[in-house]
Amino acid sequence: MSTTQHIKKNDIYNAFHEIWETEEPSDGVLHGLCIAIKDNIVTKKGTTTCGSKMLKGYNSPFNATVVDRLENAGAVLVGKTNCDEFAMGSSTEHCAWGPVKNPWDTNRVPGGSSGGSAVAVAANLCDAALGSDTGGSIRQPAALCGVVGYKPTYGNVSRYGLVAFASSLDQIGTFTHSVEDAAKITQCISGYDELDSTSYPETHPDLCENLKNPIKHLRIGVPSQYIGSNNETAVNDAIQDAIDTYKKLGASIVELELPLTDVGISTYYVLAPAEASSNLARYDGIRYGHRTDELCSDLFELYSKSRAEGFGDEVKRRIMLGTYVLSSGYYEAYYNNALKIRRLICEEYKTAFESCDVILGPTTPTVAFPLGSTADPVSMYLNDVYTANTNIAGICGISIPCGFSEEHGSRLPIGLHLQCAWHEDAKLLRIAQMFESATTFHTERPGVIA
Ligand code: GLN
Repeated sequence: MSTTQHIKKNDIYNAFHEIWETEEPSDGVLHGLCIAIKDNIVTKKGTTTCGSKMLKGYNSPFNATVVDRLENAGAVLVGKTNCDEFAMGSSTEHCAWGPVKNPWDTNRVPGGSSGGSAVAVAANLCDAALGSDTGGSIRQPAALCGVVGYKPTYGNVSRYGLVAFASSLDQIGTFTHSVEDAAKITQCISGYDELDSTSYPETHPDLCENLKNPIKHLRIGVPSQYIGSNNETAVNDAIQDAIDTYKKLGASIVELELPLTDVGISTYYVLAPAEASSNLARYDGIRYGHRTDELCSDLFELYSKSRAEGFGDEVKRRIMLGTYVLSSGYYEAYYNNALKIRRLICEEYKTAFESCDVILGPTTPTVAFPLGSTADPVSMYLNDVYTANTNIAGICGISIPCGFSEEHGSRLPIGLHLQCAWHEDAKLLRIAQMFESATTFHTERPGVIA
């Protein structure tokens, strides 16, 4: 038997690293919408710490492109949300400012790394939030907190001002209560940006046009690898119900095989740490980041002590892993092979999208897990089994609420994961909107009290 928890707002305030005094918004399509920003997206206002002691008190001299675009569209920016350190994690427990708690059950994690953004929206502390997704960091916490989490196609939203984790995988996206809000906000922040060399230079799709027109003759691909014993029963059941809902809406189901799903995590954990080890080299205590107070005899000792004090364990683990796979003698065996598998994963998706419009499955194999249960890093890494390949290929993906599990003593949300091909973001959102219009899961809220 489960009961709706009544949660004190104090329990979930750690969703925010900073709450700002708000300013009069300009006119625009987002006029008055209260939006929170993940703490790895730079803002002139307040600080940007990436959940790390390394950047404690860091004040950016410029705004990320997405921040300027939100302000120009009339959004009210309400503050910065806590995240796993440098966006590395799936639980928001690896945050130097303390863990963030799930508003549906405060003994459980909200997912990560954009856990603060997910909680801020789920608990109605703001209307929407921005996050970043390198292997699942928007979609996974959105699923675990019962909100809509959308990762656009790589290159659609400028990364200028997003503190780099793994540059070939990182993408900014949104947390919202509805697909319509995701479309509206992304329409404002996407589009070419000359300040990001990977920004998509062609015309971007209009995400709001036709959003509410269902797609006729929709073909939904369901990979056999996405359903089965890896998932909790309630997750499998909710996905089966979602398939039935789409069938009732006239969709046909295509059985798919995506065998490279199984190697996604191992590929991701070569590529992402390799890029991270290079990106995080800049935090040397001189150009950027925390500098040790201890007296050092040479420059190397200064680097070494500053980095040892500034970075947390998970970040250090990734840097060591990344330097290892890039080091001479191992580069061919690990990094180069991971790049080859990346190519195969892209081919696998390309072939799959010849027979279907969208790929459907669960966002995560389980619902929100208890705080403190990811001491073993590999068990945490496995949370991204269904989301990492989306980033490896650079396609678009969204998680939308599709049910609840009552199996763990509290009512815990389940996420439906939809993926579409490169730059088919408008189609993805229309397909998500079809499900949302036919169901009410997205209207449910956790029992938060003042
Ligand atoms: N959970 C994954 C990781 O730890 C993904 C993080 C992300 O998408 N930023 O790297």
